[in-house]
Amino acid sequence: MPTFTATFLKTHVARLLVALETPDDLAELVADTLVGANLAGHDSHGVGLVPEYAQLIRAGRLKPAARASVEAATGMLATLAVDGASGWGPPAAFLATDQTIARAQQFGVAAAVVRRCQHIGRVGQYVERIAAQQLIGIVTCNSSSGVVPFGGRQRMLGTNPIAIAVPRQAGHAPVLFDGSTSVVAGNKLRVLVEKGLPTPEGWIVDRSGQATTDPDSFFTGGGLLPLGGHKGYGLGVMVELLAGLLSGASAAFLPDFAGGNGVLVMAIRPDAFMPLQTYLEQVEAACAALKGSPSRDATCSVLLPGEPEQIARRERAANGIPMSEAAWQLLHNLSESLGVAVT
Ligand code: NAD
Repeated sequence: MPTFTATFLKTHVARLLVALETPDDLAELVADTLVGANLAGHDSHGVGLVPEYAQLIRAGRLKPAARASVEAATGMLATLAVDGASGWGPPAAFLATDQTIARAQQFGVAAAVVRRCQHIGRVGQYVERIAAQQLIGIVTCNSSSGVVPFGGRQRMLGTNPIAIAVPRQAGHAPVLFDGSTSVVAGNKLRVLVEKGLPTPEGWIVDRSGQATTDPDSFFTGGGLLPLGGHKGYGLGVMVELLAGLLSGASAAFLPDFAGGNGVLVMAIRPDAFMPLQTYLEQVEAACAALKGSPSRDATCSVLLPGEPEQIARRERAANGIPMSEAAWQLLHNLSESLGVAVT
């Protein structure tokens, strides 16, 4: 499997995005977030998405030079709405995140929605930024239909991730939960197809609702199953009603949903409720208790949410980012079609 440094991928992807008529600053930001997902171990949301993004641009659905802005009419104290202008998702979601941080610092709690927003990628990156300011971050979004309802057989819901980050004492990455309300993110199926691997049992059903391990069944009308049966289904519905409807993006299964992500960003200042140091000490005690609890398997210990991403970051920063031959070929073909040399 070819392996690349983060620096090479960032530079090359930024050049591809510029060739796709993205302004330099936005290209650098988007390339950085994509490679950040690869470094965190989520190839589903890394540079392998660029060929899909190029298709969205060519179809006129992603406007590469558009810039997100805060809507003047909704600038009420602790809440705001960001218009993503159908441009790149990460700059729009980071604008909402930064505004939410500033308002939570002032008011104790703040929330934003992002509308007309394209794909924002790995949702964990936004709550990580909030937690870096010693605030609690919650970000969720709906996305295009790919998940069948509990007991249903037609794809209706998005994979609808929920990310929550809680800050820790200095020197520790936040406790970070960042996961879809489906069994896995839909893009993980694309990664399996690229590697020629079957889908684990219990992930998908085909278009007639039958369980299958053939990932192609998903791309021909099948659907992902909700995480944990009725509970993941319930969470997925709530994300549609919160992030989808409140943002104005609509619910994935209603006719007016235009694709991309409807996004809800929230930040909470812990010291609105107790002294920050007391909270951080309690978080530390909770983390230590969990980490110190006995594991079922003697070869691996109990991990905190977010630790797998930290482990992947250390490993990939040191040894490079592996990419399947098929994923690299798609990126290579796109580079050739845009006249961008691979150097
Ligand atoms: P996942 O199942 O790989 O991980 C979910 C969470 O579980 C993570 O917080 C991880 O740290 C934690 N975890 C994993 N193994 C663990 C272990 N052994 N012990 C403790 N915690 C553990 O995530 P996923 O559902 O496949 O989602 C992957 C990515 O896809 C996420 O970054 C998500 O934001 C992104 N996503 C984006 C969209 C979008 O439309 N923008 C949609 C869906 C998913």
